[in-house]
Amino acid sequence: MDVCMNFAEEVSQWIADNCPDEMFTPMPVIEEVWGGRKEQFVNADAKVWLERVAEQGWLAPSWPKEYGGAGLDSDQVKTLKNTFKTLGCRPALMSLGIWMMGPTIMEFGNDEQKLRFLPDIAAGKTRWCQGYSEPGAGSDLASLSCKAELDTETNEYVVSGQKVWTSYADKSDYLFCLVRTDFNASKHNGISVLLIDMESQGVSTQPIRLISGASHFCEVFLDQVRVPAANLLGEINHGWSIAKRMLEHERKMMGQSDLTDNYNPVLSDFAKRYQGDENGRIADLALRDRIANNEIDIAALDLTNLRIKEEIKAGEFPIASTTLKYAMTLAYQDKFELLLEILGNKGLGWEDLQSFLTDEERAAREFAFSKIQTIGGGTSEIQLNIIAKRLLGLPD
Ligand SMILES: Cc1cc2nc3c(=O)[nH]c(=O)nc-3n(C[C@H](O)[C@H](O)[C@H](O)COP(=O)(O)OP(=O)(O)OC[C@H]3O[C@@H](n4cnc5c(N)ncnc54)[C@H](O)[C@@H]3O)c2cc1C
Repeated sequence: MDVCMNFAEEVSQWIADNCPDEMFTPMPVIEEVWGGRKEQFVNADAKVWLERVAEQGWLAPSWPKEYGGAGLDSDQVKTLKNTFKTLGCRPALMSLGIWMMGPTIMEFGNDEQKLRFLPDIAAGKTRWCQGYSEPGAGSDLASLSCKAELDTETNEYVVSGQKVWTSYADKSDYLFCLVRTDFNASKHNGISVLLIDMESQGVSTQPIRLISGASHFCEVFLDQVRVPAANLLGEINHGWSIAKRMLEHERKMMGQSDLTDNYNPVLSDFAKRYQGDENGRIADLALRDRIANNEIDIAALDLTNLRIKEEIKAGEFPIASTTLKYAMTLAYQDKFELLLEILGNKGLGWEDLQSFLTDEERAAREFAFSKIQTIGGGTSEIQLNIIAKRLLGLPD
């Protein structure tokens, strides 16, 4: 306990010495930082903040130091996160690379790959996207057909095919790409994972617009793209288990309520502010009841999440990430339905946001975004199938 207290003090002091003043203010959407070679910092202080946090290894605090992390244990990571949150500083970076690809490369990559890719991910210098879904392969992912053939003369894979719904592909530096390397094997057995530089000749992207107004999705076209064999992750034709492991990381990430601390409105505070405060309690009894239920659901899921982390520490990788993803994404939708109700016309900000406060301006877009959370990372129906088969042992 004392060790954690000392560490919390150390972190607080470091933040006081290093966090630029502006990074203590709520973050407008356009100032989010996702890193990578194409990052354009809207706020110059965000760049300073990113570099300082990265230098501490605190963007990926649990990763070993040799891979750009800080080698912290899980209690220290918790203390670090809580201290950042309590002091109200902005997250320095949002990163699929840190949440999903990095841990998978750490587990399946060889030493050369780990040293080549992980430090840049941990420093926010490269941004990654996930090349899984294809026009003919979504829920039934293993039927993917993007093809890779080894050119034995140059020791390169030649990749041709199309990916779809690839989040942030147009802004990313690397594609974590599932390819079919054996068309004769059964569908789960002929898949491999290639780590593809988005600058490679033959890679192109086309953005797709979402109902939230943003267009973080892309189609990715791969036309005779040459990928060094050194970028094959794991064994040839054994990529399916790697693909599933990264999905577990993705679902674990989606099963957290405070992934980025970026926009995490406390409904009870909003309700008191916008719908009336009666002696420190939400005035409307019915609303109070609904908010309490939602906050209890999310708190219970967060505690379950902590339990899962302990299980992972003990060497297990439980299926609970699927259950949590399923439950948390529904609770998240419920939360943003409630938020819009509470805010009334202050929750309708979309464009021309001058008349909205920073914590009002994101509500409508987050509400719309919550609707797609039960699809991304595998739909809710697919999560229920997995739970039925793998957790409950029900027949196919
Ligand atoms: C926010 C978001 C981000 C995403 N980011 C990425 C990304 O970065 N990279 C990437 O590769 N993909 C990404 N996707 C794509 C996502 O993984 C797919 O949309 C998802 O797996 C569903 O596939 P599909 O869209 O082809 O739907 P389909 O598979 O065609 O499914 C259509 C409907 O049928 C249901 N269904 C299908 N099969 C079954 C079954 N066996 N049992 C019961 N119901 C079934 C589904 O639940 C769904 O309701 C993203 C999607 C979203 C929404």
